[in-house]
Amino acid sequence: MTRTFTYQALPMRVRFGAGVLAQLPDEVAELGLHRVLVLCTPGQEATGRAVADALGDHAAGVLARARMHVPVEIARRARDLATQSDADGCVAVGGGSAIGLGKAIALEHGLPVIAVPTTYAGSEMTPVWGVTDNGVKRTGRDERVLPRSVFYDPELTLALPTATSAVSGMNALAHAVEGLYAPDATPLVSLMAAEGIRTLATALPRVVADGTDIDARSDAQLGAWLCGAVLGATTMSLHHKLCHVLGGTLDLPHAQTHAVVLPHALAYNQPAAPQAVSALSSALGAAADPAEELWELGRRLGTPRSLRELGMAEADLPRIADLAAADPYANPREVTADGIRLLLERAWAGDPPVSTRSVSKPQ
Ligand code: NAD
Repeated sequence: MTRTFTYQALPMRVRFGAGVLAQLPDEVAELGLHRVLVLCTPGQEATGRAVADALGDHAAGVLARARMHVPVEIARRARDLATQSDADGCVAVGGGSAIGLGKAIALEHGLPVIAVPTTYAGSEMTPVWGVTDNGVKRTGRDERVLPRSVFYDPELTLALPTATSAVSGMNALAHAVEGLYAPDATPLVSLMAAEGIRTLATALPRVVADGTDIDARSDAQLGAWLCGAVLGATTMSLHHKLCHVLGGTLDLPHAQTHAVVLPHALAYNQPAAPQAVSALSSALGAAADPAEELWELGRRLGTPRSLRELGMAEADLPRIADLAAADPYANPREVTADGIRLLLERAWAGDPPVSTRSVSKPQ
């Protein structure tokens, strides 16, 4: 069959390598910026201040208030501070929380964002924003929030605890896995997905064995870049929907939830996604069953095994299954509340993944 597809490249510059953060002042100048607001989480304030110091007069201040899922009050405060301090850009240093705050400012004021990711979540590669108001997270795609430049400096990830590194890496893997069976997958993006999975799956055990191994950290960042770019280029399916519902409804921790759900969501979809299974199998070292292999990888990395240990009550299973099946969305296999409930029961209990039903919709 002749291929037909549309591929849209995203405009951004990537600077990659140990010590590359020293080029940040050059980047600020090249983008024509004069005063940039540095954003980070409270836990990374020292790093944020060091970045601001390196920028000297070009730093408009440091806001160390970023939080998971970008609460609207914090987004408002950041937008006000950007206006008051005459900032013409932002530097977001940290994981998806800090970068998400930069995106919230960009969405309203159009200020360019420079992202300095220190986790493997992948937000720096996407035009996807999210803001949470009264417990409800709104998300959208807008090219204004896509970071103009991204600095991958593995030295900044050395302090990321190995347990956080492992779950964050599983979060990145999830983007690439779903990118392989996305309705808008393209040959280039599928290559990036397969290589991102291969790179991360081999780097993460080395990171967990020795968090100070800068080569392993560098490889993990390369994998995270590729997986994040897949997230930015494709439409996600069942796995991301489930994690969104679990996080939004029960406030389960983001990366840990991804780590638990991924093998189960993949097992559900595998019978209807033969091309993705074949690419995954190669990327994971000729794995006979990629879902099982990812479950094993999580075990080796010491990631949480069950939704129960993340604090989910068994009584919530039917409600979450109904919510995840409520609105139609692209998925290789038909999504039914019963199918999701069976999948979730295993994820909740920490059982190994299995395909629960026969295929009902071809890819
Ligand atoms: P995070 O940014 O909340 O960071 C997790 C914790 O790790 C924080 O306490 C942070 O201070 C700490 N930390 C980060 N880097 C560190 C380092 N190098 N050393 C020590 N501590 C460090 O977590 P995350 O998983 O990166 O991001 C999750 C958020 O990002 C969620 O809100 C999620 O919805 C969002 N996200 C968005 C996209 C997108 O495309 N829009 C993609 C992925 C994730």
